[in-house]
Amino acid sequence: MRALSVRSDGTGGHLAVRQVPEPPVGDGDILAETLAVGVCGTDREIAAGRLGCPPEGRDWLVLGHESLGRVLEAPARSGLVPGDLITGVVRRPDPVPCLFCAAGRADLCENGRYTERGILGRDGFASERFRVEPGYAIRVDPALGLAGVLLEPASVVTKAWELLDLAVRRPSRRALVLGAGPIGLLAALLGAQRGFDVHVVDRARSGPKPAQARALGAAYHTSPGDLDGTFDAVLECCGELIREAIDRTAPAGALCLVSETGPKAPVDLADLSRDLISRNKMIIGTVNSNRHHFEAAHDALLRADRKWLEGLLTRHVALDAWEAAFTAGPEDVKTVIRFGT
Ligand code: BGC
Repeated sequence: MRALSVRSDGTGGHLAVRQVPEPPVGDGDILAETLAVGVCGTDREIAAGRLGCPPEGRDWLVLGHESLGRVLEAPARSGLVPGDLITGVVRRPDPVPCLFCAAGRADLCENGRYTERGILGRDGFASERFRVEPGYAIRVDPALGLAGVLLEPASVVTKAWELLDLAVRRPSRRALVLGAGPIGLLAALLGAQRGFDVHVVDRARSGPKPAQARALGAAYHTSPGDLDGTFDAVLECCGELIREAIDRTAPAGALCLVSETGPKAPVDLADLSRDLISRNKMIIGTVNSNRHHFEAAHDALLRADRKWLEGLLTRHVALDAWEAAFTAGPEDVKTVIRFGT
């Protein structure tokens, strides 16, 4: 079968569609035909050779951690039947296991020896067929259709919001989302669903981002300088506005960092600690998600408008045209690689 794979030989990633063996039974009892995989910043980092690692003993990795597949074979105990739509959880526990992995919270793994489908040490889902273990397969309601490919990024955002739900202690409910990529717009969706007055900042002046934000009832700003006041919950989803994110977090409010900051910025730790302490502010970091977050994200996506969700899928490319998926412009939201079309 064909798979989008990356070869890492220490000189940077090399992407290609190549013939690979059928998915090994060791990947799980459920066999699915792939309908689509989403492409995100992590995939672009892997493609550039800055991230990612092939399975042991190999120098190539099948890419793709945002998946949507249709079940071809499934054991009865999985509760799935052929024809069901599924997506796969990304992370697998470390072999030790650490306290968190032992407790089913591999998303919090503390020794870093976890593996991740399509990222670290395990093949991803960007092959014509994939296998997954029943415990890591999430059934996708057919009402979501192709938008089911958004479940993985939505699960990451769900985890971020669950942390903010615990951390934000202010009675008022203003939320700020920095960045209107897929993560940012899904964060805005979840904030709106929680009843927050949501503000989104992104530099895109045209294209679908402003309309997608406004369709949620959110205010859209093209510069953080246009913002007014502070926010109870802040999500930094672009990796470029961490300074603004900290400054705009209200007293007794919380900031969740979802994207790693790109540029190195000098930080005055004395100023930062004074700000956090005197204003009772909290900064939280988060990465990855587990089965619970996928299930909660599934509920949230089902409550969203299907057309709005599809509006996030701004670029569809066929497997053979995969290169176009790695040249997204500033107005693109989510690019998906379609299989079998
Ligand atoms: C994925 C996470 C993963 C992280 C780091 C993100 O793009 O959504 O599931 O843990 O990359 O590998």
